[in-house]
Amino acid sequence: MKLKVISDDSDVSKTGKSPCVSCHTNCCKEYVIFVNAHDIYRLSVRLGLTPEDFLEIYGAKDYDLGINVKEGLLDLALKQKDGGCMFLEESNDVFRCTVNDFKPSVCKSYPFQIKNGKLIQMSGKMCPVEWNTKEFENMMSNHLKKDKDEWKFYDELVLEWNAKYGIKKPLSVFLKFMLDRVVLEFTKS
Ligand code: SF4
Ligand code: SF4
Repeated sequence: MKLKVISDDSDVSKTGKSPCVSCHTNCCKEYVIFVNAHDIYRLSVRLGLTPEDFLEIYGAKDYDLGINVKEGLLDLALKQKDGGCMFLEESNDVFRCTVNDFKPSVCKSYPFQIKNGKLIQMSGKMCPVEWNTKEFENMMSNHLKKDKDEWKFYDELVLEWNAKYGIKKPLSVFLKFMLDRVVLEFTKS
C-alpha cells in the first residue's frame, strides 16, 4: 500500500486545531513509507545524502533491483529505526518529523486517499482524528494532483527501465537514472 499522510502543520480537523502536534504519530511508526522518484530527489538534495543512505528496497526477492517485471514496479521505502520512520524524532514524549518541509508525498496526504475519483478518509486507518474532508481537499488540491502525477511519472520510469535495461543492474545505476530523469523534467518545465 502506498501510504497517504497529512501535513503536521495543517489545520483541518473538525476541532479546528492540528492534532498531529500532540499525537504520538502512530502513522509514522506503523506504516512502511513508500517513496517515488521526486520524493527521493527532494530528500537527497535537501539532506545531502545519497538515496542509498535512506532507502530500503522491497520486493527484491526475485531480482537484484526488486523490479517486479509483471507489475512493472520497484518499491523503495524509507528505512526505519527504533520501530518508526528514520526521520521521526522524539523529545519529552513529543514526536516530530525532521523532514517536515520536504517529507514524502504520501506523508502529506495521509490519512486521505482518492477512491473512484473521490477524496475520502482512509478506512481502517490508525489516525484517531476525524478530519474535515472538504477543507483538506481545498487546502491540498494542488498537492493531491502533484502526488498523482509524480507516482505516474515513477511507475512509467520503472517500466522504461525494465524495457531498456532488464533486471540485473546495480541499484545505484537505477537511482542515478531515476534522479537524472527528475532533473531533466525540472529543466523542461
Ligand atoms: S495519526 Fe493522525 S493525528 Fe496522529 S500524526 Fe498521524 S495524521 Fe496526525
Ligand atoms: S517522513 Fe516524516 S511524516 Fe513521513 S513517516 Fe517519516 S517522520 Fe512521519
